[in-house]
Amino acid sequence: MICKIRLSEAGVHLFDRVSGLNVLLDEVEVPAEQVSRAPRYLSVALTNACELRCSYCYAPKHAATLDIDRVVAWAVELDGAGCLGVGFGGGEPTAHRRFAQLCTQVAELTSMAVTFTTHGHRLTPRLADALRGSVHFARLSVDGVGATYERLRRRPFAAVISAATLLRSVAPIGINTVVNADTIGELDDLAEFAAEVGASELLLLPEQPTAATPGISDADAERLVLWIRTARTGVRLAVSRSGLEASVPAAEAIPGEQPLDAHMHIDATSVLRPHAYASVGTPIEGSILDAVQALREAT
Ligand code: SF4
Repeated sequence: MICKIRLSEAGVHLFDRVSGLNVLLDEVEVPAEQVSRAPRYLSVALTNACELRCSYCYAPKHAATLDIDRVVAWAVELDGAGCLGVGFGGGEPTAHRRFAQLCTQVAELTSMAVTFTTHGHRLTPRLADALRGSVHFARLSVDGVGATYERLRRRPFAAVISAATLLRSVAPIGINTVVNADTIGELDDLAEFAAEVGASELLLLPEQPTAATPGISDADAERLVLWIRTARTGVRLAVSRSGLEASVPAAEAIPGEQPLDAHMHIDATSVLRPHAYASVGTPIEGSILDAVQALREAT
């Protein structure tokens, strides 16, 4: 096993992208000048394009797509500065015409974990073959089961079951679920679905407010917290940083880690942001590490 090393204020972090193993040597004190400059994880919206029309979608609706040569250059720079993983999303990342090539290049040129989040409906055996070996974890978005899924996503539920099977042949998978009034009553079914398709994690994403939707209601947020506290599931549960994580018994992966050390996001117009929902950001002109520094100073 070849471990990547990240030096953080919490200690020395060892990571193996193949097994997903993380070890934090928190008894080792890292001098401030040696702390890794990159965030631990970077998410990248490759394109705003997506053929689905989910009412709660937060992806911008103007056309924008990233050039993969720039994305590869950013990944190489961040890899050398201690970043452990990059996650491609959108929009729908598989709608990017050079998506498979991008994953292959980042996997070959860096020691970071390559992950992506997809609705699954563009996956084909050919694309799965092209991604196998270059992707270390994949996330499938499944909002509700059966008729609820079909109403929200306007695609057959059977198609997402097939997508889960195909994706599972590429890499370990997780299921992502937006939690709102439509899906809050189906969390048991979603956890069962996740276990049945061989997922290792169910990531709960409380719906965020957008121009079109108010976000998860206080009552549904309370139901979600109660469900997390009492659920007995066959898969690991995770919850996005939405404020609710403080109300549930969530493990703190890196004690004391600052949000901008944990994660940053690049949108499809090359703006570096604290996270995908953030309204502020720093355009990436040349070096991404310069943009990382500028974002830290601005926020
Ligand atoms: S699948 Fe995702 S990116 Fe596409 S419309 Fe739905 S929420 Fe937006």
